[in-house]
Amino acid sequence: MSDETIANLLNEERTFPPSDAFRAQANVSDPDIYEQGRDLEKFWGDYAEGFEWFRKWDTVLEWDPPFAKWFQGGQLNITVNCIDRHLNGPRRNKAAFIWEGEPGDQRVLTFADLHREVCQAANALKSLGVKKGDRVTIYLGMVPELPIAMLACARIGAAHSVIFGGFSPDAIAERVQDSESNLVITADGGWRKGGVVPLKANTDEALRSCPTVKNVIVVQRVGSAANCKMKDGRDHWWQDLVRDQPRTCPPEPMDSEDLLYILYTSGTTGKPKGIAHTTAGYLMGTARTFEWVFDAKEDDVYWCTADIGWVTGHSYIVYGPLANGATGVMYEGAPDHPRRDRFWDIVEKYRVSLFYTAPTAIRTFMRWGDSFPNGRDLSSLRLLGSVGEPINPEAWMWYHQVIGKERCPIVDTWWQTETGAIMIAPLPGLTVAKPGSATRPLPGVDADVVDQDGNSVPLGSGGFLVLRQPWPSMLRTIYGDPQRYRDVYWSRFENLYFAGDGCKRDTDGDYWLLGRVDDVMLVSGHNISTMEVESALVDHPAVAEAAVVGKAHEIKGQGVAAFVTLRSGHALSHDMREELREHVARKIGAIARPDEVYFSAELPKTRSGKIMRRLLRDIADGRALGDTTTLADPNVVKKLRDQYESTEG
Ligand code: ATP
Ligand code: MG
Repeated sequence: MSDETIANLLNEERTFPPSDAFRAQANVSDPDIYEQGRDLEKFWGDYAEGFEWFRKWDTVLEWDPPFAKWFQGGQLNITVNCIDRHLNGPRRNKAAFIWEGEPGDQRVLTFADLHREVCQAANALKSLGVKKGDRVTIYLGMVPELPIAMLACARIGAAHSVIFGGFSPDAIAERVQDSESNLVITADGGWRKGGVVPLKANTDEALRSCPTVKNVIVVQRVGSAANCKMKDGRDHWWQDLVRDQPRTCPPEPMDSEDLLYILYTSGTTGKPKGIAHTTAGYLMGTARTFEWVFDAKEDDVYWCTADIGWVTGHSYIVYGPLANGATGVMYEGAPDHPRRDRFWDIVEKYRVSLFYTAPTAIRTFMRWGDSFPNGRDLSSLRLLGSVGEPINPEAWMWYHQVIGKERCPIVDTWWQTETGAIMIAPLPGLTVAKPGSATRPLPGVDADVVDQDGNSVPLGSGGFLVLRQPWPSMLRTIYGDPQRYRDVYWSRFENLYFAGDGCKRDTDGDYWLLGRVDDVMLVSGHNISTMEVESALVDHPAVAEAAVVGKAHEIKGQGVAAFVTLRSGHALSHDMREELREHVARKIGAIARPDEVYFSAELPKTRSGKIMRRLLRDIADGRALGDTTTLADPNVVKKLRDQYESTEG
């Protein structure tokens, strides 16, 4: 990335140091911790001592690039560390999950309840012949049976493969086939915006092309509303199968490097990859980052709004919080059902203190207006988190002011399905936050920004984000395809993990994520990050959300095409289009002025809420649309293309 780009980057000079009060009570307040993180084996070996092992490890790390083995020789079970460990003390009857269904029903599971339900579900799986080493696909909405099913698999040593409940039959079939699962756990249906998601019907359709699946377990969630049909000999009701199972189930001793789960990435960039995570390292990585980044305390009520179908839910709804004995809120439905204040209603109702969500949600809340959060009591909040995309400075400030009332530190957490746990984020008692920067690599994380040749670039410049050293929760391979693992992550630079994201480091050494490297445009020989232009657009008071892509341009090589969603109350017009173009030119420079601005009520997003720029590029360049199976709503992109074609000519 050229120096011009760096000079062009938004000049963000606001800084937010932790308050004295927050610092005084923080889990981490000694800056020496970064130094300690340099000795990886001691740093992680000491931490692992605090967990329950059937057998201690022989070596903390064996590194044969690109293959790492952590805690080799050790044996443990992650469910013992997430559940059983908490049963002989005051946490026994503490809430592990406070669950709220979309229709307003509730369930609280204490750690003792969770233990019993996981053991019964584990015994149910055994009764159908599931054993250590098998793969089980789980396709459920956000119901308590989802974490219970995952933990039941882990209890007996089967790997789970969770598929987000919004995926289509084709997407399910592709993932079931790739993982060669022999059992699927689903539900009759799930609630979403008052309607029913036909989970069982989708499963039935998918399984027509999945011969490895012998049994299906079906959770009853919506009852007669699903009108679901059961197949004799293959389908079993969860409730019937689990009810009479023994209430204890001995945990399977797992090797540290045994497969814990497979999770397919969202597919923003192409064919889904089955990311493989193993047992011990993943436990250490998620447990420690949860405690440190969220500053989690015994009395906190933590709510991560992600779906468990994404890695954020795996690591920070299920494994990380449970390993810390934390109380987590889990919500089944949509943020605007029945009203646009549902999230703030839940914060008020359960006195949520730690809140973790995504920039796409924050921008949506901004668009809906302040009256919704302002109408609820948010005084219980003490820390806010963000994940999934770079957070635009504008959205960061709104989150800070309207939700955090200028009182709560914000942790912008950069990580990936592949990293398993948070890698770059503030330590909220130590780090001076800046709106839009994920700040520093965590202790024990050796990140860097390099140029095309893999050389570290000086502070103040940008390039490719890489990781120089292995970390415990790193992916071990792409399931069934170690060559693709090498190719995708380890071949761009020798012995460096290539994250695929562009990044700049400012002169303080803080990291500013710029989005995927394939989202960088080359305009008249200048590298311009799509993220940078988007942030400038979102900075305009009329703009709710923006997606920017490069478009083939005869003279410049690439031009800038912007797709914009306006905030309620603002009208689309030619003047507005010009105003936005000028706004970008003022914020960044004339070089970044969008050649085209398109208004759209919605932008095409993956089911995890990320903008699919790859499809916008197809539209802008007039190509046939690429794979759309992971889109939340394929109609959005079709509408956009029609609109684009009619205005272009
Ligand atoms: P695929 O790899 O299939 O295209 P994906 O990358 O969207 O899908 P995830 O693993 O869920 O799937 O997302 C990780 C990516 O999300 C990161 O590589 C980065 O681009 C982006 N990201 C996540 N958190 C942040 C953050 N705090 N700041 C900037 N970018 C982030
Ligand atoms: Mg990715």
